[in-house]
Amino acid sequence: MAKKSIDDITVRGKRVLVRLDLNVPLNDRGRITDDRRIREALPTVRRLLKDGGRLILISHLGRPTGNAAEDAEFTLRPVALRLTESLNRDVVFVDATVGDEVRRAVDGLTDGSCCLLENLRFHPAETIADKKAAKDGALRKEKDAFAAGLADLADAYVNDAFGTCHRDNASMLTVPQRMAGRPRVVGYLVQKELRFLGDALRTPKRPFVAILGGAKVSDKVGAIEALLGKCDTILIGGAMAYTFAAATGHGVGDSLVEPDRYELARSLLERAGGKLRLPTDSVVAKEIVRGAATQVCTGDIPSGMKGLDIGPATIKDYAAVLHDAGTIVWNGPMGVFETPPFEVGTMAMARAVADATDRGAVSIVGGGDSASAVEVAGVAERVTHVSTGGGASLEFLEGKPFAAIDVLDDA
Ligand code: AMP
Repeated sequence: MAKKSIDDITVRGKRVLVRLDLNVPLNDRGRITDDRRIREALPTVRRLLKDGGRLILISHLGRPTGNAAEDAEFTLRPVALRLTESLNRDVVFVDATVGDEVRRAVDGLTDGSCCLLENLRFHPAETIADKKAAKDGALRKEKDAFAAGLADLADAYVNDAFGTCHRDNASMLTVPQRMAGRPRVVGYLVQKELRFLGDALRTPKRPFVAILGGAKVSDKVGAIEALLGKCDTILIGGAMAYTFAAATGHGVGDSLVEPDRYELARSLLERAGGKLRLPTDSVVAKEIVRGAATQVCTGDIPSGMKGLDIGPATIKDYAAVLHDAGTIVWNGPMGVFETPPFEVGTMAMARAVADATDRGAVSIVGGGDSASAVEVAGVAERVTHVSTGGGASLEFLEGKPFAAIDVLDDA
């Protein structure tokens, strides 16, 4: 079901609670090393400011431990400064998430102004899982009280934090649940993610090809199972491929495998009926070290060697499949792409996806490693959509419902 967006509500003079994903990497001096997430949040914030909203911006940053001294590095203060520069207007930083200080700051907002509250995860209630809260009344109370503190601040709620949409954090789910009756809508980023990912899965242009890589079959099994019913071909890469190879009796040397998933791997191959394509050759080495001596191995990998990237024949074979694709979704690298020379297969896939997009395919690259691969390959601008959420986009591909989205107003 499509959701209402910020284009469907009037915000002039209204206090709007805007959940963003401002989880940017910081160096040890508290400097932002990559401001992509801040830049991506700007269209929604600018639009709401222009329309005269009084914005209360909220986000998490990193994984604070609950130890105040250690957690100081996770403050959102530098983000408020960067927002101030980018928006060319004062973004008041509030050194708290709930309470009197927050209330005073919100009362001080005028039309078309905004404040940023401190890291939501500084409050332990933000990340209490609903499953845990269901078994422990005190936790439920704590989570509800925190959510009420946020919900009571505002007349409307905007979710523009796709990267956390698969979570039941207080600010993502409990807050909009408590705000029933007030407008609860998506921002431009979430709207775009839902449109691209949703359309690809619902009405893909065919052939529909998925590229799945990364370390573990166990992390991707949900996506493989869901995509088997939707895709025409699934190209497998990364260490995952060796679990499939070992499960079907091939020698994989010292490659990373999950022996407890062999049974599952065999069952997936059987159910796939040829849709699942495995590498026919690998780049192997003794160790994962920069500049390691490598060999290309077709067939069984000898003991003492690890498979660390897809080989040249596989690259050619996979690129040919992508050449004719109508829709492509990609999640997970083809090898240990962080350590050259094992980045070759992943970079080749990035270029092949971009080439296919130039020829008219719709391509969606899902978060994390694959997103950074298309950036490094210099083709990020040539793919249709680079998802801002790694875990969220994978769960979306798995077909899991997102309660944080479901709770928002239907269009
Ligand atoms: P994931 O988080 O499951 O998408 O896995 C990403 C990680 O898988 C990256 O850090 C890669 O270095 C790693 N990876 C990919 N291929 C291999 C491989 N053949 N052997 C070991 N690790 C791999």
